[in-house]
Amino acid sequence: MGLGRAVGLEDGVMRTCNNSRTSVPEPPLTVELVPSSSWFTNVRSHLPAEEWDLVRRAVYRRARYRCEVCGGHGEHHPVECHEVWDYDDEHRVQRLNRLVALCPACHRVKHLGLASVNGRYDEALRHLADVNGWTLEEARQHAESAFAQWSERSQHEWTVSLGALGSEAYRRWIARRRPSGSSSLP
Ligand SMILES: [Zn+2]
Repeated sequence: MGLGRAVGLEDGVMRTCNNSRTSVPEPPLTVELVPSSSWFTNVRSHLPAEEWDLVRRAVYRRARYRCEVCGGHGEHHPVECHEVWDYDDEHRVQRLNRLVALCPACHRVKHLGLASVNGRYDEALRHLADVNGWTLEEARQHAESAFAQWSERSQHEWTVSLGALGSEAYRRWIARRRPSGSSSLP
């Protein structure tokens, strides 16, 4: 069983629980705002830089350097690594669901608050509408509800769980890819 988990990790690290209990089909692209109370507890801040590089490059390779939402890619760099979190609003647990490769335009939509700070809100909203086949008004409504949810969630402290990235299988996965760690393994 342990081996099975390890073998599947290349994929599993980036998609740790696909048994989500959603009943309403989600549009291809959604705004995902991380509560401000856990802004500084992202994956990058939990992993040594070297590990984060290995993980995100594996995500890029798996996606063949294409956006996993729209199939596109960026002008200056093809894709970026996005953390998808599940939120347990009852117990205030924020758990890493998976990591995905997104083009910069889709990634900007995910972090629409940051896009707004950077003066690129309208551009991001247009991209959101284009990808989902929505009118600008529909995109605006989606954004408003995402901000309302963000505002509510930001009033609380969240326990952050890294999901599979905190597992023993992950330690083995990363050890095999690290030049310094590989020699010590059988
Ligand atoms: Zn995209």
